Amino acid sequence: MNGETGLSPEMMKVFETLPGLYLVLSPDLIMLTASDAYLRITAKKREDVAGRHIFEVFTPGARDQGGRDVANSLIRVINTREPHEIPVARFDFPDPADPAVTRSSYWRTSHTPVLNSRGEIRYIIHFTEDVTAQEVARQQLTASLEEQTRSAAKALQMSNRMEKLVREIPARIAILSGPDWVFEYTNPHFEAFFSQRSLRGKPLLEAMPELAGHEVLKALKHVYDTGETYSGTEMRIPMVRQDGGKPEDHYFNFVYQARYDENGVINGILSFAYNITELVTARELLQESGEEIQATNEELKATNEDLYQAQRNLQKLNEDLEKRVGLRTSQLLAAREDAIRERDRLNAFFMQAPAGICVLDGPEMIFELVNPPYQQLFPGRNLRGKPLLEALPEFAGHPICDILIDIYRTGKTFEGKEVMVPLASNDDGPVEERYFNFIYQAKHDIHGMVDGILVFVFEVTETVLTRRKKEENEKRFRFLLNAIPQQVWTSRPDGALDYVNQVVCDDFGQPMEVIVGSGWNEFIHPDDLGDCLRKWRHALEAGTAYTVEFRLRFKDGDYRWHLGRALPLIENGQIAFWLGTNTNIDIQKDNEQRKDEFLSIASHELKTPLTSIKAFNQMMQRTDDAERLAGFAKKSAGHIFRLEKLISDLLDVTKINAGKMIYNMQPFSLKQMLADTIESVQHMAPSHQLILEHAEDVEYTGDRFRLEQVVSNFLNNAIKYSPGEKEVIINCEVERDNVVVSVKDFGIGIAEGDLLHLFERYYRVDNTAMRFEGLGLGLFISSEILKRHQGSFWIESQPGAGSTFYFRLPLDSHNVAKAKRIGNTFYQDTTITITYYERSHRIYADWTGFQDLDSVKNGCLVLLEMAEKNRCSKIVNDNTHVLGSWSEAVDWVSGVFFPMLEKAGITHLAWVYAPNVFSRLSANKAAGVAAGNIDTQLFTALSEAEKWIDNR
Ligand code: ADP
Repeated sequence: MNGETGLSPEMMKVFETLPGLYLVLSPDLIMLTASDAYLRITAKKREDVAGRHIFEVFTPGARDQGGRDVANSLIRVINTREPHEIPVARFDFPDPADPAVTRSSYWRTSHTPVLNSRGEIRYIIHFTEDVTAQEVARQQLTASLEEQTRSAAKALQMSNRMEKLVREIPARIAILSGPDWVFEYTNPHFEAFFSQRSLRGKPLLEAMPELAGHEVLKALKHVYDTGETYSGTEMRIPMVRQDGGKPEDHYFNFVYQARYDENGVINGILSFAYNITELVTARELLQESGEEIQATNEELKATNEDLYQAQRNLQKLNEDLEKRVGLRTSQLLAAREDAIRERDRLNAFFMQAPAGICVLDGPEMIFELVNPPYQQLFPGRNLRGKPLLEALPEFAGHPICDILIDIYRTGKTFEGKEVMVPLASNDDGPVEERYFNFIYQAKHDIHGMVDGILVFVFEVTETVLTRRKKEENEKRFRFLLNAIPQQVWTSRPDGALDYVNQVVCDDFGQPMEVIVGSGWNEFIHPDDLGDCLRKWRHALEAGTAYTVEFRLRFKDGDYRWHLGRALPLIENGQIAFWLGTNTNIDIQKDNEQRKDEFLSIASHELKTPLTSIKAFNQMMQRTDDAERLAGFAKKSAGHIFRLEKLISDLLDVTKINAGKMIYNMQPFSLKQMLADTIESVQHMAPSHQLILEHAEDVEYTGDRFRLEQVVSNFLNNAIKYSPGEKEVIINCEVERDNVVVSVKDFGIGIAEGDLLHLFERYYRVDNTAMRFEGLGLGLFISSEILKRHQGSFWIESQPGAGSTFYFRLPLDSHNVAKAKRIGNTFYQDTTITITYYERSHRIYADWTGFQDLDSVKNGCLVLLEMAEKNRCSKIVNDNTHVLGSWSEAVDWVSGVFFPMLEKAGITHLAWVYAPNVFSRLSANKAAGVAAGNIDTQLFTALSEAEKWIDNR
């Protein structure tokens, strides 16, 4: 073997016979040799070892921390060429007596590189020392939790300091070979001591003549002759450190041991010596503290067995020294008591904690400690002493496993919140989805290595499931509330608004967050706010139902009357939340107001003819004159007729309201019906001339009596509202399968603002009400009768010049059925033509002829469908070809259809209206009320409408 790179056979022999556990490795970790002691302890033969790679023979397992430490240390030594020591590590060896049994032991290992003259590694000395006894003693002393106490920390600190001290005390090794005891080898410590002398290759007595006659020579001779090991204690030897220098007294503990050749013949002596001069000197200094010294003395004396024994004594001595200088015994005791108390406290906490606590020990994660609440999580399972995956096999494959393994690597604490783990309560029980909050915390051994995990765990399955259920219920509840077509809201028990449904958002034109954030107050009419707040506060305090009438401001800026109600939902005797609704009662409120007005008018209207009748009656009683009597009776009959008419109107309205107006449909001649009605009205009103200008003879099927009522109402109004005028002109024409009747007067006329309202119940134009009798019921009753005949009506009027009242009745009411539809881009029936223009990406709706609610609804829905199918956002709505003018559908268009258009994604609407007042009014009303986010513009010419929309 090359001296620069390997190990000489002699050195090989030395290492093999060393009493310690040595392995010698080449720089590429091939085992060159091992000491006998090493082979013995690992149950290997030399040929198992020599020439093989260390990890081929001692393969470190994945969880073999000790093995990995050795590998890391070796790599480090190869890289740095500096010695390295591994802290105490655990190794599991098969018991030599019974290889099936594994024994754990603790070892301290060091690696020392031996370099050649070029500074390269020749070989590496691997030295291992069994510290099991110390380790076991230490472990017993510092039982698991005590580790965390101050005392343990102190002990640890002390033992570390001791280790350092011991390392600093050098052992000197020399090999004397042959009968002359030639210095064949001396270790660095040895050489450091005799740095000024050259000893190598010289016989002992030649190298150290000062030993002549000393008793150590006798001991050496004895060993060389007999082979018996000799150990000496506190041997005083005069040493000369440099050639020709003065001898100094040195004290040694030492072992001499025979070395044999391959034939078993002694060929040298191994010498291990500890220089304990400083120790002895120190002891001499401590003479006065008798007992301690006595003990030290005795212990020193007892270190005859071997050098390792001496080491331990040195430790003890130093520990004593430490004690003297540092901690006083009493302090130490107090610290210990503190530690015990701390430990008891920890123990009590561990057992009584509300959390499940367990300790998973070692890489197999054995359930080492399990407190009662932890066991309670798995009532039917036996955990103690079992590895985690054996005790709870359902854990396998769960991400938690990776987390646990990771903690061994990183030492980081892990916190889990509501983590779902499928686990069974009993060994054979069903695996259930369970939720846990937990903390995993690494547990460290004295060297700071992770050797287990502390687990704190709370089961939160019930909380999680209950919450989920609640959330689900809430979702369903909100869904229901959103489906209700009126304002619905909820608030917290303290009254703070926390939800409003879509209707509220649509009405106020604000998103829910904004409304919930600002609360109701902003939307309530200032005059109603005080009353509202007072009632709401009272309801909150008393926990009773809340009812209020108030006005709410809508997105168009107008206030609308609402009936607000709220009820507390009581759960377990506590208010869980308030559920409220606001019902739009604007129409009812309006009606109510008009009804009140109506009642006062009605009583007045009924009283007037009655007063007259009463007066005529009195006068009839006072006269016998036949002529006068007849005159009074006739006048009285006129008032009775008026009274009768008023009462029958009232009865009609009641019937309409109750939906009980009965129609008797029969075919009859319209021309004849008109002539008869004109005749009977003319009879009662000689002031005007009723002229039937033109009447087509059409047979019509309907309720003749009710239609007579309509005509007579139109005629009576024409007469009533054209005082001083002479004529009323009546026409009846057939146009596109419809018959249109008109009644024209030259009277006071009607202002634009009133036109759309005339057919409403109790509606009377303000300034006429003062001058003309009437209940405002006639036109309402007429409109109801016409609707039931699928007819419509409209008015053309100019204030001061007169009015023309029209009504229309369809001769064929199945127009819509004649629809023809071509694909998704074209539709046509008798009332509308709808075309989708792909190039300009807009829809054109051309309304034609007479319309009624059904035709408008049908046309609008087709329009909407076509817009959606073509993803079209622009519409041109053309009313120029509508015949008559008619407003009944306006409310439906603005209230229902426009929101539908907006939801379908319509952004622009151009509305072309016909050159008549009704058409303009309808367009204005529909667009004004409902435009919302749709950009709507009104036009009179189609070309302009198209130009505008194409530029959008
Ligand atoms: P009444 O005539 O009993 O008041 P109607 O329902 O018949 O009730 O008419 C409602 C309102 O319409 C009238 O009050 C009046 O203001 C107005 N009105 C009806 N017909 C005419 C007309 N020919 N000229 C002017 N105003 C009219």
